[in-house]
Amino acid sequence: MEELLNLPKKEFIKVNLKWIKEVNGGKLMDTLPLKCPLALWVAHNGAKCSRELVPNTAACPLCGAPMCPDCGNHHVETISRVTGYLSTVSGWNESKKQEFADRHRYDLEGNR
Ligand SMILES: [Zn+2]
Ligand SMILES: [Zn+2]
Repeated sequence: MEELLNLPKKEFIKVNLKWIKEVNGGKLMDTLPLKCPLALWVAHNGAKCSRELVPNTAACPLCGAPMCPDCGNHHVETISRVTGYLSTVSGWNESKKQEFADRHRYDLEGNR
């Protein structure tokens, strides 16, 4: 695992995707977001995020959890500042995004 963590991010993801495809039957990794291999890679390599808030998350290609599109950080606390609660994969479905959009609209109306 140590050796794998020293791979460039792209290669690391590729190796894990291969594992998903060949060993896990194409299913995403069923793991806690912070234990996801990609999250571990980010922690190991000290990838720093320049963003305070991540309004739009990307889905991790390995575990499906929300992550920062820039650095791959799975740090859901950062995301929770946007959504107001600790996010789960299902928490980032369409209705959640809509709720966030609605809340934003409500704030705008409140300022009128
Ligand atoms: Zn980031
Ligand atoms: Zn992940």
